[in-house]
Amino acid sequence: MEKIKMTTPLVEMDGDEMTRILWKMIKEELLLPYIDLKTEYYDLGLEHRNETDDQVTVDSAEATKKYGVAVKCATITPNAARMTEYNLKEMWKSPNGTIRAALDGTVFRAPIIVKGIEPCVKNWEKPITLARHAYGDVYKNTEIKVPGSGKAELVFTAADGTKIRETIHEFTGPGIIQGIHNTDKSIASFAKACFNFALDTKQDLWFATKDTISKKYDHNFKDIFQEIYDAEYKEKFESAGIEYFYTLIDDAVARVMKAKGGFIWACKNYDGDVMSDMVSSAFGSLAMMTSVLVSPDGVYEYEAAHGTVQRHYYKHLKGEETSTNSVATIFAWTGALRKRGELDGNKDLMVFADKLEKATIQTIEEGKMTKDLALITSLKDVTVLNSENFIKEIRKTLETL
Ligand code: NAP
Ligand code: MG
Repeated sequence: MEKIKMTTPLVEMDGDEMTRILWKMIKEELLLPYIDLKTEYYDLGLEHRNETDDQVTVDSAEATKKYGVAVKCATITPNAARMTEYNLKEMWKSPNGTIRAALDGTVFRAPIIVKGIEPCVKNWEKPITLARHAYGDVYKNTEIKVPGSGKAELVFTAADGTKIRETIHEFTGPGIIQGIHNTDKSIASFAKACFNFALDTKQDLWFATKDTISKKYDHNFKDIFQEIYDAEYKEKFESAGIEYFYTLIDDAVARVMKAKGGFIWACKNYDGDVMSDMVSSAFGSLAMMTSVLVSPDGVYEYEAAHGTVQRHYYKHLKGEETSTNSVATIFAWTGALRKRGELDGNKDLMVFADKLEKATIQTIEEGKMTKDLALITSLKDVTVLNSENFIKEIRKTLETL
């Protein structure tokens, strides 16, 4: 069979530890035999980030802006232990943080649904995609532990010196205060990324805040979303047959629990932090969760939601067998290939991405899976495979499709 040709390269960001091992296996078994794979390769493995003073991460983000689509392997975010383990010159920043800052993106996370790995919430038939605003609020706060009685005030000094002043509270004893902020620019980017992603995936978009209580702060989020929707997206949504739905956060939580799924849930930073862990654990496993960073001007970076699976890597280094789940990493590749195909009008590439996803799901549904899934599946008589054999089984299934 002739290999599928590509016109524009994908930006390929290699990573660390066990996921780096899986990365190579996925390419060799599931991609290179079928595609004349064109990538611009960036090695984001920690050793190479250290050698290049992390310039490679910046370069990979720039390349993503240039080409529009990237696929990323999980990477180590250095901490004190990694400083010694890798003999680092500096405690380099999280690559995901660097890339997100460069692309000004929003991260969308969605579970991969497979029969036999049922969500805890039994009415969730379709995936729920969570979009978390990744700037500001309590993640960039200023706090004071109030020692005793006194007056707390909120003061804004404009560039020309004029002041806006509000009393927060007249303390009669000790307490606490917190200052948080956000910017219209960041909220607008978040809104556009959400509206674009909803159109792209043809799913309804839900957004919720607590605007009844927070009449200026949260209300500003609600207003910006609504203004952008009315001005730029209303007609597009209507012709795509999808809906933008705003409600209060507590109402959203109640509705999500009763819903069938199949929509995008946009959350403010803190709500997204909390709710993404709830949604992902209720769907079964972090190893079955995809993640895509979308910039407001339509640049996409696909990855798995989990980390480098360090514990498995150390076993691998000792020569022991591992059973690491490669599904989310495979779906990072298929997501990127499908998007590349869509942008280049390359139908064959899109069809291949669909096929590889189908083969992956079918393999699991036939009872062939890695250990993490075997522990939670409702299927009987499953075969637990090691990391390599699981990928080989997917290839066998792929050959039959
Ligand atoms: P992790 O790599 O996600 O792994 C945590 C545990 O979850 C594993 O030990 C394993 O449990 C299970 N697990 C995760 N992915 C799995 C998979 N594909 N197959 C089977 N089991 C899986 O998180 P971590 O150990 O906290 O972090 C390791 C490194 O990853 C850190 O250096 C961190 O900085 C980095 N990290 C990177 C990203 C990213 O690049 N996006 C995200 C998060 C973390 P068992 O050990 O019980 O089998
Ligand atoms: Mg969290």
